[in-house]
Amino acid sequence: MTWHAQDSIIAAYVSGRIDDAAAASLETHLLACEACRGAVSGRVDPTAMDRVWAGVRETIDRPAPGLGERALVRVGIREDLARLLATTPALRASWLGAVAATLLFSVVASRALGGDPLPFLSLAPLVPVAGVAIAFGRPIDPAWELTLSTPTGGFSLMLIRSAAVLATSVVLAGAAALALPGAGWSMVAWLLPALCLTVLSLAASSTGVATTVAAGIVGTVWVTAVLLAARLADEPLAAFAPGAQAAFAALALLASIVVAVRHTSFERPARI
Ligand SMILES: [Zn+2]
Repeated sequence: MTWHAQDSIIAAYVSGRIDDAAAASLETHLLACEACRGAVSGRVDPTAMDRVWAGVRETIDRPAPGLGERALVRVGIREDLARLLATTPALRASWLGAVAATLLFSVVASRALGGDPLPFLSLAPLVPVAGVAIAFGRPIDPAWELTLSTPTGGFSLMLIRSAAVLATSVVLAGAAALALPGAGWSMVAWLLPALCLTVLSLAASSTGVATTVAAGIVGTVWVTAVLLAARLADEPLAAFAPGAQAAFAALALLASIVVAVRHTSFERPARI
């Protein structure tokens, strides 16, 4: 090496008061000259370097958002909300795939029974109930500890995730309903029961039982009620008749009031 960077150039470079051309020239020289690299590093503030290095590591180590999360942000949902939704177990591809397969099975069963919509109508309302049950809780939610520390903890988080799960379930079940044989009122007869059972399971879990247990109870009561109504009225679809639909609407309203009144029970760390 026949020349070395002047002290004034190195000082200007370290302090950041140097023009781009001179900086580029010095950096090219530094690549090949150990003595000047030593001169530069001797002048650099180590705490500033640590800060830069921490920033680099933070950027490299930060997990990249998934496809779903990026899509949510793109349609205008806030980044923190998108992360909360993307980490909801019941909104993951594996769960949605299982739901789609189950709905498909019920449609095939309805077709195999000569157009009887009962298998589909009984099963579709349970889809959001199961989804909401696995949308919360320590054993299931990978972001459980994280959600405890967010300002959007507890009740708001429960509402956001339940609404997202319910909306997704309705879209999936609605698509499956299109494949039902002999379409008619049976294509939508599952909607009010679905809403009613979902809110009922939330109301049940507000009493302190785990969301999965609440969903199990609601599901068992639902299947029993459908079978019992069919037997008592001697009509297979009695549980979906207009009178029953009105009862589902009233029950959904009542359960919503219970959830609203007991909202603080969703804020307890042990529960969410
Ligand atoms: Zn040099």
